[in-house]
Amino acid sequence: MPTQNNLQEKILRTAVARSQMPGQYTGSEWNMVRKDPGSVAARICLAFPDTYSLGMSFNGYQILYGLLNERDDIYAERAFAPWTDMHAAMRDEGLPLCSLETFTPISEFDVVGFSLQYEMTFTNVLDMLELGGIPLLAADRDKDAPLIIAGGPCALNPEPMADFIDIFILGEAEERLPEFMDHVIELKDKGLTREELITELAARVPNTYAPSLYDVVWNDDGTLKSLAPKASVADRIPAQITQAVVADLETAYLPTRPIVPFNEIVHDRINIEIMRGCWRGCRYCHAGMTRRPVRYRSVETILKNAEAQYAATGYSQIALTSLSTSDYPDIHRLVRELVEQFKDRRVSISLPSLRVNDQLGDLPAMLSGMKKSTLTIAPEAATERLRRVINKDILDEDLFNGVRAAYEQGWNGVKLYFMAGLPTETDEDLIGIAKLAEKVSHLRREVTKGAGKVNMSVAGFVPKPHTPFQRAAMATKERLEQIHPLLRQQIRTRAVSLNVHRADRSFLEGVFARGDRRLGKLILKAHELGCRFDAWDETFNFTKWEAAFEATGIDGTFYANRARADDELLPWSHISAGVSHDFLAREAARSQEGEFTPDCRDGKCQACGVEVCKETPKAPAS
Ligand code: SF4
Repeated sequence: MPTQNNLQEKILRTAVARSQMPGQYTGSEWNMVRKDPGSVAARICLAFPDTYSLGMSFNGYQILYGLLNERDDIYAERAFAPWTDMHAAMRDEGLPLCSLETFTPISEFDVVGFSLQYEMTFTNVLDMLELGGIPLLAADRDKDAPLIIAGGPCALNPEPMADFIDIFILGEAEERLPEFMDHVIELKDKGLTREELITELAARVPNTYAPSLYDVVWNDDGTLKSLAPKASVADRIPAQITQAVVADLETAYLPTRPIVPFNEIVHDRINIEIMRGCWRGCRYCHAGMTRRPVRYRSVETILKNAEAQYAATGYSQIALTSLSTSDYPDIHRLVRELVEQFKDRRVSISLPSLRVNDQLGDLPAMLSGMKKSTLTIAPEAATERLRRVINKDILDEDLFNGVRAAYEQGWNGVKLYFMAGLPTETDEDLIGIAKLAEKVSHLRREVTKGAGKVNMSVAGFVPKPHTPFQRAAMATKERLEQIHPLLRQQIRTRAVSLNVHRADRSFLEGVFARGDRRLGKLILKAHELGCRFDAWDETFNFTKWEAAFEATGIDGTFYANRARADDELLPWSHISAGVSHDFLAREAARSQEGEFTPDCRDGKCQACGVEVCKETPKAPAS
């Protein structure tokens, strides 16, 4: 058995010799937390099943890392999925997947926690377990194996990963993970069997779900008949599991010393989450429905955190993040004061998620004089009719005013996000996307010379659990494949560039988003056939996935393209994400009628069922 120093040396040598970006495998970055592993009561490896570059850009990952490491009795370390070059090299050399902090194999941790941000990382979870020397199936692990836990948006329909994960933590992990670790510390040396330990944790810690403790029964037509706790534990664990929610964002943990990578990463900047949740009620939006209610940080807290993060990192860009930054109630004051605070330090302010609203037109002027980062706007649908179906209450005029103002302040172009394959969509709606993009490009001629550069990204719509479209049929792969040629034909200017997401990957995402635990064998087969990094064009191989469907006899269209009847029990019916089934059904019916539901600001509550809403402050503290 190699010693840790040995392992570190071998991994570093291998990374330098065989990987294109060795800096992502070395650890020791600025602000990395160093502790003596022998001095802590429990060790957790925060495992991100995608590249280092994406994982390190993800705010939630930095939050958990900083929050857990504030405690003296816990050491939180990091591991990422090695890219193909390093993966092959590690296999050749027989090197296990290790943490970046201490080069400890992940099999030696008390807990390995995966962040499931999107469905296309599922095979990477298996790959990381395998590379770490941990049995893939939860049922095959003995008491020496670490507890394998998972959280993130995909955990709100945990069933496709039920075979591989011991315990899911549902909802906002910073609210529950420290408490979970307290119980791990208390129980880990009590001589419990693995099953006893998992049962004890699932019984003690709210918002946790251990799939092995629940029985599943199917109807003859393949739909779900029941999913309920096993008789032996039914009096100890909940039949309905709720998700964790941070009630007050103002007092919640905010990183002050994020790790600064050696390599360039996707979001190489200070990220400050200014607001969580969204009022708007877009019917397709998983985050908008499951991250309710809206919670804020005060302008003062954000300014103070910006200063602290700047001092600890030296970054030259600050991003104000949230689902909808332009909806932050005090956005004018916030941007003004932030610009003032950093104007002499060549630090730019970026607002990555702008929604079209009446504030949009004012924002570019407030950022004038700063370095220009990309203006990104997500109209999602181009026609008024389709916007009513999806409850996207935006006006073209507000969009045009915002873009015009941006051109006036020196922006050369914008990025526009749309979805295709939305319920009731026609070719006319798609043609509308091309027309809208062209109009946005032409607007620049009204204020200066030349057309604006528009990068247009069109994603296939995937119905998600816990949204009003959770029972809707997804557009078929064949329909999604028509989108690119149709849009291409309509765009008559070189100023508009088009990126349409792959139809086969959207289909796969649709299979897993609303899948059940029978898909475990599909994921396992795909892993055995070599599928990994399925979210990446360079590595995605749909032919292998087709072979996996064939080998397992699973019909993907049953999951992706089938409308669910109102009374069908859904594989995530035992999980409550806050919004009630009544509200979702009501919204689905209003969608059919093309009726808008107003957003719930200013006391216009739509009775969505989110209990914790009563406890949360309704405006940023000042
Ligand atoms: S309970 Fe009412 S105010 Fe709160 S998020 Fe739901 S609809 Fe909005």
